Amino acid sequence: MNENELIDLALNQPLAADEFKPVDLHIDRRAGLTIEWKDGKTSRFDLGYLRKMCPCAQCRVEREKPMAAKKPAAVGTSLTVLPSNIDKATTFDDAKLVGNYAISIVWGDGHKTGIYDFRYLRLICPTHGDSTIGK
Ligand SMILES: [Zn+2]
Repeated sequence: MNENELIDLALNQPLAADEFKPVDLHIDRRAGLTIEWKDGKTSRFDLGYLRKMCPCAQCRVEREKPMAAKKPAAVGTSLTVLPSNIDKATTFDDAKLVGNYAISIVWGDGHKTGIYDFRYLRLICPTHGDSTIGK
């Protein structure tokens, strides 16, 4: 399953399930995003990983490009997905809750269209999500 299929899968999960309900969120420039879930598990996300998995329409299109077209972006510092300054693209300026179902992150390079649904975050969690994703 790729990232885009995962986004669709996430949005079909029951919003009220304990495993998709955060009781505490913490975002930090160095430690990244930490979420404590109602089912007792804790997820930690590296900011670079979250940016790579950005669920916004623009990044979805970027990920769907054929490998050949994607090549320049995949090597080193990308000019399309992570424009020029990788540090800026993977740090955040601001983050806020969207209703009770998502977190929105404004990245250092100004990219701010990504709304990270909690169900999506849980599914892409490196320790408690689907381990075949994003590796
Ligand atoms: Zn995006």
